[in-house]
Amino acid sequence: TRIRPSSKRCAVIGGSGFLGRHLVEKLLDKGYTVSVFDIRQSYELPGVTFHLGDLCDKQALLTALQDVSLVFHCASPAPASDDKALFQRVNIQGTQTVLQACTEAGVQKVVLTSSASVVFEGTDIKDGREDLPYAKKPIDYYTETKIEQEKLVLKACDKEKGLLTVAIRPHGIFGPRDPQLVPILVDTARRGKMKFIIGDGSNLVDFTFVDNVVHGHILAAESLRPESPICGKAYHITNDEPVRF
Ligand code: NAD
Repeated sequence: TRIRPSSKRCAVIGGSGFLGRHLVEKLLDKGYTVSVFDIRQSYELPGVTFHLGDLCDKQALLTALQDVSLVFHCASPAPASDDKALFQRVNIQGTQTVLQACTEAGVQKVVLTSSASVVFEGTDIKDGREDLPYAKKPIDYYTETKIEQEKLVLKACDKEKGLLTVAIRPHGIFGPRDPQLVPILVDTARRGKMKFIIGDGSNLVDFTFVDNVVHGHILAAESLRPESPICGKAYHITNDEPVRF
């Protein structure tokens, strides 16, 4: 007989990254056993097992997913790279590979970190709900592949097969150790390049504190059960009011 993986054993794909590491730390606090799967190892933490590998490599994933019941997928190439082939390989083909590996390994739940940009058509959105359609003209290759990635993960939700999925859509994430958002803003300001305004100065942008994004992921994971209405759905996540920019 096959032993069902323990529900407190999880893997964080992309766990060496900014969001991933915060998620790993909170999961440990909450008594989870955590494995990280990433192409790099950026820290060490007692209780965390690191598996180095590319998520496009199913064999490497299968080794890391042994006895894992819950997978957080928060790996992606950096949006700034604008490398179409890399986004397609990692976010689309790679996500298909992750889903296959999860099915083969007997994983029961997958929580995807998607992005609010999947519904952004270039004009401000206030109080945007999850029933907004996907952007027909995504703003960049990164977003184009985040849309395909989210569709794949949500479509894979199958109660009969025992795989449940959900997606969380943050926009900008800030917090300790943020490698991109705030450092890039500060650097741009220091170089004197923030002295002009794009638009009329009332464009909206949304930022969420990293702990809130982590909280949303863990709530989603813990609520994901066969009878739950969140199965196969995507959720926007934010702090409160969007910031005028
Ligand atoms: P990050 O770059 O800090 O972390 C991503 C991690 O993924 C890195 O550790 C990287 O090594 C890993 N990775 C990349 N390619 C991989 C591959 N082929 N195989 C295995 N691991 C791989 O990024 P982040 O800001 O922590 O973003 C995490 C997730 O959140 C991403 O899915 C991103 O699209 C999403 N997101 C981020 C923001 C933000 O503002 N930071 C906003 C919305 C959505």
